[in-house]
Amino acid sequence: MSDPAIPSFRYSLLLREINNLRHTDGIDSVALVLIRIAGLRAVNANFGYLGGDHVLEEMVRRITGLARRQDRVFPVHGATLALLIANPLNESHAVLAAERVIREVQMPVTIETSRARVNAHMGVSLLPGLATSTDELLRQCEKSLRAARRRDETCIVFGPELDKPETDAASQAIFDVDGALRQDQFELHYQPKLALASGQLLGAEALIRWRCPDNGLRPPAEFLPAIEQTRGIRSVLRFCLNAALRTACEWRERASGLSVAVNLSPANLTDPDLVDVVADALEIWGLPPDQLVLEVTETALMDDPKANGRTLRALRKLGLRLAIDDFGTGYSSLAYLRTIPAQELKIDRSFIATLEKSHRDRNIVASVIQLGHAVNMQVVAEGIETLEVLQTLVAMYCDIGQGYYFSKPLPADEFSDRWVDQFGRRARA
Ligand code: C2E
Ligand code: MG
Ligand code: MG
Repeated sequence: MSDPAIPSFRYSLLLREINNLRHTDGIDSVALVLIRIAGLRAVNANFGYLGGDHVLEEMVRRITGLARRQDRVFPVHGATLALLIANPLNESHAVLAAERVIREVQMPVTIETSRARVNAHMGVSLLPGLATSTDELLRQCEKSLRAARRRDETCIVFGPELDKPETDAASQAIFDVDGALRQDQFELHYQPKLALASGQLLGAEALIRWRCPDNGLRPPAEFLPAIEQTRGIRSVLRFCLNAALRTACEWRERASGLSVAVNLSPANLTDPDLVDVVADALEIWGLPPDQLVLEVTETALMDDPKANGRTLRALRKLGLRLAIDDFGTGYSSLAYLRTIPAQELKIDRSFIATLEKSHRDRNIVASVIQLGHAVNMQVVAEGIETLEVLQTLVAMYCDIGQGYYFSKPLPADEFSDRWVDQFGRRARA
């Protein structure tokens, strides 16, 4: 391994470097590309820290090879490098340079007799053009880089939308999905689904929780939005499918015919591997496919109805069941509802909660139940909290119910003890 003795720069030195370059004769403008190398953790784990250093040094060498005479390349800190482009012709010039950088970064690096691969995210800005000062240039690049990492995009050029205050979800730190999986911090809790007419247990919905080392059990709203911006959402789905199918197989030893429902995130629907991932999980666990339900929200479905329709049909061919979740909160077209191959329509709990108080909601729920039945779907009411609401839904011929009135979502063991065993005993009696 060579040692090119690359100097380590800090941001103050980067600022000085930008200012020096700008005061060089004939250089009126600069573009800054901040490059954050991704995947170094795996390199360090496989090849030790010297391996990680070697990869970083190799990246600086490769990017320097692309740079023109007056451009500068240097490490900023950790896995972040900077490419400073002198007199870029326009924004596209910087983007083109970034595209060449990514090609170089993605080529394998030889470490001893093995090959390692890394990737990169990049943030770009220009002075003048986008920024009016050196400080601002750096701040804009950092914002663009953070957005690129969060959305898992290769390169983002600064735009005014990145200056807007960040939403709750977007401001969450990047969630270390791999770390949480390695440390077994995700778990599924199960909430029973019952046939409303007979009270019979039909199965459960699996709902993810994160056991935060500092802060106890966290609900999905606190961590899923951050993960959904990244590829980590694929790993979350794999985890959910495996854990839910394993649990449903355990139920089969105590009671027969119970189904398990797993939620898909909108990003899972556009994952080209989705159908294979689900098919593999079903094959590995050997659960009859019609005992798996996949829940997709109405809003996610309407993102790209045609493409999503194709995905749903491919999933349906595996023999599993599909549910439209949170129905009533999005804008679906009735024509579309007729064509999608879903078997369950889950009315959002916001309508169920106010059923007793609002005539309007009562009418809406009654209409949705009729609508679901008209297109041959079973209708599920989420969020049943009182006996009165339950009785109203039974009178409306709602098929299935879920809610705190029956049970909150429970850890797998507790769900088995409290629900599966009792149901199994009743079914045998
Ligand atoms: P959802 O799929 O509509 O799940 C129902 C949510 O309503 C759950 O919240 C559940 O705990 C809650 N709930 C059930 N009955 C009642 C009730 O009677 N009263 C009230 N107030 N709430 C009730 P949770 O577990 O916080 O999940 C929220 C959302 O997060 C889920 O909505 C689903 O969209 C998403 N989610 C949960 N687990 C997963 C997962 O494993 N993968 C994905 N992609 N999304 C998940
Ligand atoms: Mg759901
Ligand atoms: Mg729901």
